[in-house]
Amino acid sequence: MTTNGVSTYQNFIGGQWVDSVSGRTYPIYNPAHKNTVLGEFQTSVAEDALKAVEAAQEALPGWSGTPAPARAAILFRALEILRDRADDIARTITLEEGKPIADSQGEVKRAMNIIEYAAGEGRRMFGYTTPSELPNTMAYTVRRPLGVVAIITPWNFPIAIPAWKIAPALICGNTLVFKPASGTPMSAVKLVQVFQDAGLPPGVLNLITGPGGLVGNALVESPQVNGISFTGSTEIGTAIYVEGARRLKKVQCEMGGKNAVILLADADMDKAMGGIIQGAFGSTGQRCTATSRVIVEAPAYDQFMNEVIDRTSKLKIGDGLDPTVDVSPLASQNQFDTVMEYIGIGTEEGANLAYGGHALTGGEYAQGFYVEPTIFTDVGLDMRIAQEEIFGPVLTVFQAGGIEEAIQVSNSVQFGLSSSVYTRDISRAFQYIDTVETGMVHVNAPTLGGEVHLPFGGLKSSGVGQREQGTEAFDFFTEVISVYIDHGAAATERARFI
Ligand code: NDP
Repeated sequence: MTTNGVSTYQNFIGGQWVDSVSGRTYPIYNPAHKNTVLGEFQTSVAEDALKAVEAAQEALPGWSGTPAPARAAILFRALEILRDRADDIARTITLEEGKPIADSQGEVKRAMNIIEYAAGEGRRMFGYTTPSELPNTMAYTVRRPLGVVAIITPWNFPIAIPAWKIAPALICGNTLVFKPASGTPMSAVKLVQVFQDAGLPPGVLNLITGPGGLVGNALVESPQVNGISFTGSTEIGTAIYVEGARRLKKVQCEMGGKNAVILLADADMDKAMGGIIQGAFGSTGQRCTATSRVIVEAPAYDQFMNEVIDRTSKLKIGDGLDPTVDVSPLASQNQFDTVMEYIGIGTEEGANLAYGGHALTGGEYAQGFYVEPTIFTDVGLDMRIAQEEIFGPVLTVFQAGGIEEAIQVSNSVQFGLSSSVYTRDISRAFQYIDTVETGMVHVNAPTLGGEVHLPFGGLKSSGVGQREQGTEAFDFFTEVISVYIDHGAAATERARFI
């Protein structure tokens, strides 16, 4: 339905696009033009979530009973449809999340990669056979889906993160209730339409928009939901993990980060600078893998500071739809307020504001949530800006006497998602790889990124439960059953144990 040029989008339950029982909708806005309403979305309540769970439960026998290669055929069709719609969907991401259009295009490509990778698993889905200790006995393992799984996602990668949960979950035979972040529901609708148009049977993938506290909570608490795949803040993820564990559900949570680059004095400075700038200010610092800290070995410090300020000052700030823009607006008023608050905290704590630090509010910036790329130096390890996830274009810089001290600083936070070292010294690179406390480690490359066939996730407060992507994804979305078949003609003598 469209009123005054604004479309109203619905939930997707049991193969039908439907209104919430609440009868209410909420608007979402373009972060570069904050008075522009992009669409109205359902303000769902717990009852909607439970209807979606019921639909998923009903669809489960049919979908889990569909041979995995036939499930894969639908995923391959989804891949082609997503390829056809890539430009429109990338534009949607930029419109509702704000990131530069090239980043949105990259995100859609990432979603395509995971769908392709998961579809390929339809012809593998391996278990193993093994010799039995008993005669005339066959022993093997087989994978079964978990059942109904809740997919709860953040706003910063509104296509890629849902895709990297949904595609592996579907190929494994699960049926799903997808609850996207309230800030980016339009991308979610478009992703679900891709799977619908690919021929996914009704009820296999259901979509509910609305506040996490109501809808997400109802999913976590539902006894019919066997698995929860969550990405978001450490605060919400921890609560979901505790609640899920209490109900003996299988839960994976990917959460916050405070990612550091170590720049050693022997590094290729030009290569390092490119990676640090991209990591810190690309996607306006709103990536879970964004570079939030740089730890510079002392001899390289002055050169680094000169270069980082010079390069940062040349970044073009503006609407993400402009392909020449490097840094676009923050995703929401909430994000804007949080980042400005942290810049204030850093200054009050006594860190040196070396670059930026202001909101941009005049002229072409008046309608968006723009904050200058910001650099703090003289940052104490106990300061909040050194320890907490800011999730914006704010870089904190530290100095270290050598690799040991640099690794200590890198490990001094509660988070452990991604990290990077720039060096030409292979020994120091391996020393780093062996001791840095993060789930993803990069050498001479930014803290960003990752490939879909390797596991993605963090240590410490950044992640708990099985990793996403890679073969680990299929481990999370299945239960492994051990099967023993006695095919002997006579009774087999068995030892008495378990
Ligand atoms: P939130 O934790 O605020 O929200 C994540 C999702 O959880 C949203 O869909 C939200 O719904 C929902 N939710 C909120 N409250 C509840 C609840 N009580 N029960 C169930 N679900 C709930 O995170 P953000 O969306 O703000 O995302 C940013 C965070 O995500 C950052 O910390 C970032 O580091 C992290 N992240 C981690 C990644 C990783 O792989 N480690 C990757 C990308 C981001 P609603 O929007 O309606 O509140």
